[in-house]
Amino acid sequence: MRQAVYLDYNATAPVRPQAADAVARALATVGNPSSVHGFGRAARRLMEDARERVAALVGARPDEVIFTSGGTEANALALGGTRAARVLVSAVEHDSVLRNAPKAEVLPVDRDGVVDLAALADRLARGAGGTILLSLMLANNETGVVQPVAEAAALARRHGALVHCDAVQAAGKIPVDMRALGVDLMTLSAHKLGGPQGCGALVLRDGIELAPLLKGGGQERGRRAGTENVPGLAGFGAAAEAAAADLAKGAAGCVAALRDRLEVGVRSIAPHAVVHGAGAPRLPNTSCIGLRGVAAETQMMSLDLTGVAVSSGAACSSGKVRASHVLAAMGLAPEEAGSAIRVSLGWRSTAKDVDGFLAAWGSLARRQGSAAA
Ligand code: PLP
Repeated sequence: MRQAVYLDYNATAPVRPQAADAVARALATVGNPSSVHGFGRAARRLMEDARERVAALVGARPDEVIFTSGGTEANALALGGTRAARVLVSAVEHDSVLRNAPKAEVLPVDRDGVVDLAALADRLARGAGGTILLSLMLANNETGVVQPVAEAAALARRHGALVHCDAVQAAGKIPVDMRALGVDLMTLSAHKLGGPQGCGALVLRDGIELAPLLKGGGQERGRRAGTENVPGLAGFGAAAEAAAADLAKGAAGCVAALRDRLEVGVRSIAPHAVVHGAGAPRLPNTSCIGLRGVAAETQMMSLDLTGVAVSSGAACSSGKVRASHVLAAMGLAPEEAGSAIRVSLGWRSTAKDVDGFLAAWGSLARRQGSAAA
């Protein structure tokens, strides 16, 4: 079924036309980027152009970019490859961080989902018999809440700790500068910013040791074996460049205006609706909306029937309904967390999309007796 209104950019953004063109052009060429002949060199050029564009998006150098199969692999590489003696994570990290650091010490967050810096300082002060790694996301996938990464990184550095930042949801939506943030490793994913699915990167500051997860080839300077996905990476580079150009033109402000229109509309339909995380700095594109008494799945499926696509909880994986660990960490009771949907906008969103959502959500809220009289 054709979705008339797509508001699930945090799951996957629509592919930007520049990215689709770059993928098509790369598919029309032949050559393995590790081959020394002319065909191979042409494929390598495509890939190195992409590396430059991805690096530029986050203020890094091209030789710091290790291409991966996506954000999940980059997070696994960061957490597994640094071989830290202790790992600290926030309670609202993506599962691809939490599951790859099962012994991590978990830092609490406040009611808005912002990490507790005093708890971080306390943990850092306990020392370690080796390297400490802090893994803190830049923006949360469910709420859009932006973490104080620069402050946390400054604290961590004072204790000689390494800092990894999962910037999958932030890159391309807000300006990101790896050096200004003071982080050592950063995770990116192409499909969250208008590139193809199945491509990502771990950006690794010079001089940081990293053991590969995938062995058996010298690609990516020995950090990630396997022939690179050249067409996908060409698309990633083009998407990164287009996202950077949009940001320079003020795209974040335009998306924020649409998000604000949506939240004002939601509150006028149902004054008791809650926007989770609204007390903290947030991405311009994400609203996590709670409508008490109406299950998120009911909302999502009812919206889907009218062609409006949103998510419930962390619906990233497998379509299974699972309680959100993010909302639970923010102190929400299960029934509150279970009535929250995520609406996420992006480069192709329009006021018509927002109004389409509001019309569909408004009639659902009225049917459920949850709208203003
Ligand atoms: N990190 C965050 C914050 C995410 O939101 C996601 C995906 O939703 C990932 C990592 C995983 O990225 P990928 O889908 O490229 O594996």
